Amino acid sequence: MRKSALLFLSVSIMAAIPSMAWAQQEEYPIIVVPTGEGPFTFPQGYQTPWDQIEIMVTEKMSPNLFVLHGSQGLDRGHPDASGGRVMVLFGPDGVLLVDTQNRQVADKTLAAIRTFTDGPIKVLVNSHVHSDHTGANAFFANQGALIFAQENLRLDMITPRRPNGPPPTRDPASVPVVTYRYDPTAPGEPAVTLNMNGETVDFIPMMPSHTGGDTVVRFRNANVIYIEDFYRNFGFPFAAQTSGGSIQGMIEAIDLFQTIAGPDTWLIPGHGTLIHREDLLPYRAMLVDIVTKVTARRDQGQSLEEVLAANLTAPYEAQGDTQQSRDRFIRAVYAEARDFPPIVNGRRAMP
Ligand SMILES: [Zn+2]
Repeated sequence: MRKSALLFLSVSIMAAIPSMAWAQQEEYPIIVVPTGEGPFTFPQGYQTPWDQIEIMVTEKMSPNLFVLHGSQGLDRGHPDASGGRVMVLFGPDGVLLVDTQNRQVADKTLAAIRTFTDGPIKVLVNSHVHSDHTGANAFFANQGALIFAQENLRLDMITPRRPNGPPPTRDPASVPVVTYRYDPTAPGEPAVTLNMNGETVDFIPMMPSHTGGDTVVRFRNANVIYIEDFYRNFGFPFAAQTSGGSIQGMIEAIDLFQTIAGPDTWLIPGHGTLIHREDLLPYRAMLVDIVTKVTARRDQGQSLEEVLAANLTAPYEAQGDTQQSRDRFIRAVYAEARDFPPIVNGRRAMP
């Protein structure tokens, strides 16, 4: 949080200096709209008013690499800024998108893109399956995007939620076309590298972490990596285990970033403020501390209710968290401590 405030300050100072002086040497990132910090509270039964949510350019990472995000204070799931961040690389070779925001704001997401480029929408890569990142996939596929993702993400999208149940009803256009797999013998190796608009873009499949089908996206020249949701600084860690996620994998993901990111590389989470790799370390320490304590209690025979009541997250209350976010985290760690189901067709059959 403090980092984003400082950045905002420096951007304000730059804005105060006549723009001519900066025209040749603008400093990136430019924080256009700071992420909300809360606290945010909603009345019981509150429904997200999609018609009120705006999609804006919130950060500029290079002259042709922009970030889109939604309004703060309205989206119950993501009050700091609605939905998941979208990245847009644009230029003469057309538009490359990372993720597509919620389905309900598809038109606004496209309109925001059209404020800075009229290039054709060509490539879309999904960082993970959740609807705040893939909701407008079909909309952008119909605009011309070829969709890339991990095979596990595709399987998660098309596999029935219950054995012998019906397949999920979703527009077939939303399903990724080009897929690849995570190779445990070569963590950090890009599965796909694209050269577009003066950038070299790597799609790097991740170990099962936030989900079993995560991809992080590196922009080599801008020195930026979209790290999606295995890290967050608004709310507690979330491993979506039914979609193949793993708390242990999140720790491995952080360790991988100590090698695939440099000290100055900007990391762009799906939610919360922008960070550097060193900011992942206190988060890692929290994960290890909670895993150790929850596992010890489960080994002693404590029930989930007893572990929840122990309030093990108390030392880490800071980051706009809710009871729901806290309990979801502990529940995931407890579930993973023993008899953790394997990933089958992109999903885990959690008890
Ligand atoms: Zn997200």
